Amino acid sequence: MELRQPSSLAEVANGASNTVLLAGGTELVPLLREGLVQADTLVDIRGVVPRGIDGTTIGAGTMLAELEVDPSIPEALREACRLAASPQLRSMGTIGGNLLQATRCWYWRLQYPCFLHGGNVCHARQGEHREHAIFGNERCASAHPSDPAAALLALGARLRTDRRDLPLAELYRLPTEDDRSTTTLEPGELILELEVPQPEASTYLKAMDRARWAFPLVGVAAARFADGVRLALAGVAPIPWVLGSPAALDSATPLPGTAYKVDLARPLVRRALEAVA
Ligand SMILES: Cc1cc2nc3c(=O)[nH]c(=O)nc-3n(C[C@H](O)[C@H](O)[C@H](O)COP(=O)(O)OP(=O)(O)OC[C@H]3O[C@@H](n4cnc5c(N)ncnc54)[C@H](O)[C@@H]3O)c2cc1C
Ligand code: SF4
Repeated sequence: MELRQPSSLAEVANGASNTVLLAGGTELVPLLREGLVQADTLVDIRGVVPRGIDGTTIGAGTMLAELEVDPSIPEALREACRLAASPQLRSMGTIGGNLLQATRCWYWRLQYPCFLHGGNVCHARQGEHREHAIFGNERCASAHPSDPAAALLALGARLRTDRRDLPLAELYRLPTEDDRSTTTLEPGELILELEVPQPEASTYLKAMDRARWAFPLVGVAAARFADGVRLALAGVAPIPWVLGSPAALDSATPLPGTAYKVDLARPLVRRALEAVA
């Protein structure tokens, strides 16, 4: 495998076939090791993707550890970063890479030929699915693992890539029969920056199996702006999930083993709304 370390966007694009973009590598390297991602060339984008915080603009190469301690970052995003992974992972892992992490579904990770891998069956729906989805789970019942993505959704963040400017919500899509991808990113498209509006108040609450270093069973982000409060959830759907209102939890479609997540979400949503009131 070849490692390239470009210093300009033009050099990133000017590449060989079958390339994969590498930032902190905390997600990608295990996937390469397990054979879940295959590549002839790794393109290290750390010399190209902006890193750091400038007002409401965050470089996609900024580490979670940098975001969690910066007082200019809205509380919901700081807390979501602080509660993610371990200190070591947060010191290596970038916010761009976090938004693009793959599902933790054990069937997918063990390379079962499931719907998300291009097959016809969701093994989790019929098998073990305690950590899986309660929304958007008709075809693939995986639960999106990113805490910061839920916070950024509630905050109404936008992304700037090397090709377009888009609301974060448009980065994600539910997998369909024709296209099993959970993002709308084109091959080789680079996330460069995030634009994160300053709310009047925001918060992130996370239920997990351990007090530290665990993926969200349910994460709830709330952000209050002049025109109202926005809610978004982590760990409840194959993609980060916008919750239109607390009542929208009544339209959840839990599996037998995930019904408890609806019960977990209700008080978390209530507490998050109280926190930003
Ligand atoms: C054990 C463990 C526990 C974790 N726990 C949590 C948790 O509780 N909550 C949580 O939210 N996250 C958790 N994470 C995820 C962690 O935050 C991510 O692994 C990390 O943020 C990924 O960033 P990275 O820079 O290392 O990405 P990489 O591993 O380098 O890349 C990840 C993916 O993103 C792509 N990519 C990276 N940057 C860009 C970019 N700028 N533009 C386009 N594509 C890009 C890569 O090609 C790759 O596909 C955990 C991870 C591990 C390994
Ligand atoms: S939840 Fe998704 S990733 Fe997991 S087995 Fe079902 S289709 Fe595959």
